[in-house]
Amino acid sequence: MTELLKVIDLKKQYENDEIVTKVLHGVSFNIDEGEFVAIMGPSGSGKSTLMHIMGFLDKLTTGKYIFKGVDTSNLSDDQMAEYRNFDIGFVFQSFNLLPRTSVFDNVKLPLSYAQNPGDITAKVKQAIAAVGLNHRINNLSNQLSGGEKQRVAIARALVNDPALIFADEPTGNLDSKTGGQVMRILQTLNKRGKTIILVTHEKYTAEHAHRIIKIKDGLVEEDLQVANHIEIKDGDELIK
Ligand code: ADP
Ligand code: MG
Repeated sequence: MTELLKVIDLKKQYENDEIVTKVLHGVSFNIDEGEFVAIMGPSGSGKSTLMHIMGFLDKLTTGKYIFKGVDTSNLSDDQMAEYRNFDIGFVFQSFNLLPRTSVFDNVKLPLSYAQNPGDITAKVKQAIAAVGLNHRINNLSNQLSGGEKQRVAIARALVNDPALIFADEPTGNLDSKTGGQVMRILQTLNKRGKTIILVTHEKYTAEHAHRIIKIKDGLVEEDLQVANHIEIKDGDELIK
């Protein structure tokens, strides 16, 4: 297995005015290419903070973050943006689509950062097909259901063909049926070789991954392989 990323004794504290909030107290693990990992823990345990650091949306306070063999300690903002835009796709609980904008244009957005995006129309159509939304391509984002919105967000995360996808509570705003569809898409993408890092506070959602890293009070409490992960088949609900 090829290592994709590694965090070593990672600590993070936020400093606002005089107030220091210590969030991560020394977290270490490796993730290989092609894994499907759930970062699981209660609300406020530091999951999103950890994801933001691994996704180059934020910086650690001390410790090391190695991404694709590169020590990221001294990267410039431009180098961080390069990783963020071309190596990683993001899916968030709240979808974060552009309002009153078509599915096509929402999915196209990340390609506008590329200098040589290639055949934009073909790439956008391929990403939309991968989430089964061909019939919605010209609809506006506000004309979609929650599940469809999240599938558009996944298509947007895929359009640059990144090796790694972060999904932060992607089913948090969905009912169990549409949540199941989203988990099925993530499982299918993983089978096609994408590394998936799923952030969730729900045990049953985490059990769709192949490995669970449990975070509690800013520390890794447990890091285990899931012996029998839940496999979603077409039409299955997310079991609650
Ligand atoms: P989780 O995703 O596990 O619910 P978070 O990583 O969002 O947890 O937050 C962990 C802790 O860090 C919380 O106590 C939260 O209030 C705090 N926190 C998160 N972001 C900031 C910030 N920008 N400034 C100060 N505190 C923050
Ligand atoms: Mg969170």
